[in-house]
Amino acid sequence: MRQTSADRTLHEPDELSAAGLVPPERRAAIARVAERYAVAITPAMAELIDRADPADPIARQFVPDPAELETFPGERADPIGDLSHSPAEGVVHRYPDRVLLKLVQVCAVYCRFCFRREMVGPQHDSMLSPEVLAGALAYVGAHPEIWEVILSGGDPLVVSPRRLGDVMRQLGAIDHVKVIRLHTRLPVVDPAGITPALVRALKVDGKATYVALHANHPRELTVAARQACARIVDAGVPMLSQTVLLRGVNDDAATLAALMRAFVECRIKPYYLHHADLAPGTARFRTGIEHGQELMRALRGRLSGVAQPTYVLDIPGGSGKSPIGPGYLTKTTGQTFVVEDFNGQSHAYPPAGDSAP
Ligand code: SF4
Repeated sequence: MRQTSADRTLHEPDELSAAGLVPPERRAAIARVAERYAVAITPAMAELIDRADPADPIARQFVPDPAELETFPGERADPIGDLSHSPAEGVVHRYPDRVLLKLVQVCAVYCRFCFRREMVGPQHDSMLSPEVLAGALAYVGAHPEIWEVILSGGDPLVVSPRRLGDVMRQLGAIDHVKVIRLHTRLPVVDPAGITPALVRALKVDGKATYVALHANHPRELTVAARQACARIVDAGVPMLSQTVLLRGVNDDAATLAALMRAFVECRIKPYYLHHADLAPGTARFRTGIEHGQELMRALRGRLSGVAQPTYVLDIPGGSGKSPIGPGYLTKTTGQTFVVEDFNGQSHAYPPAGDSAP
């Protein structure tokens, strides 16, 4: 792993207390959570937390809560079915043309709502062993239908530039792999970690690299985070965004609109708004799907098309993502379409022109 500000990252309940993030009376309860789930709050995120706000949306994402030890019906350790779609260790092959390569199982921060919370953390091997990595790459090489490899996990950008560059080159040597995508939180949670060497490691001759940034609140896009993203984009690596819809963090239209606009200002194309997964102990974060659809309607009414994400649900068990945003087109009994505009007004549209001359 690379050297970063990790030395000053907060892990222990006593450190969280000393930093003013956990009141002394909650320390013992937080310690029980920390025994079960990994904790890490980087200096950048610790600085961003408003200690005076008991509902601070940054704290809510990273500071452990005793409610994490309550599991509700339907919650499951592997909510999106990674294990049942893993043909080789480190690989998840769910869709025909792409695979996940879980290069690492550690992150710079640990999000309290993480859908892979049972699989990530310092108790796991930090990076795939050389033998396991070789097996995973052999699987990719033996499957010509794999057009895209997504490095996720874990946060692949916590790997040292030298080792990440090695993996990127090995993937780049597989002829049928055309696109390599890396999913990360690092530009936000440790902007200084986006070094020139790391950015160079992202690039592979003849292949397209994309970086998908996970951020959930507009305050995360600080000046330093924006500069880190600019270093990536200026190097010719396009960026996408991923956001989890989280109660008490971003479940209102104004916050989501500000976040999507901030992404676009950073030259990051809003990609997915994820409905929160059924990970254990995360019920306090989940909104209703109807509320998510209302928010998407509100975004459609107020935001440029370039700033619109797709609202998706990962179907529990591993059947993949489905778009679950509101529909705008219905058909009447007479086969005439009715289409709704961004103000909620309905308009008739004539039957399909298949039979037109
Ligand atoms: S960075 Fe991603 S994988 Fe890591 S804890 Fe957060 S949501 Fe989970």
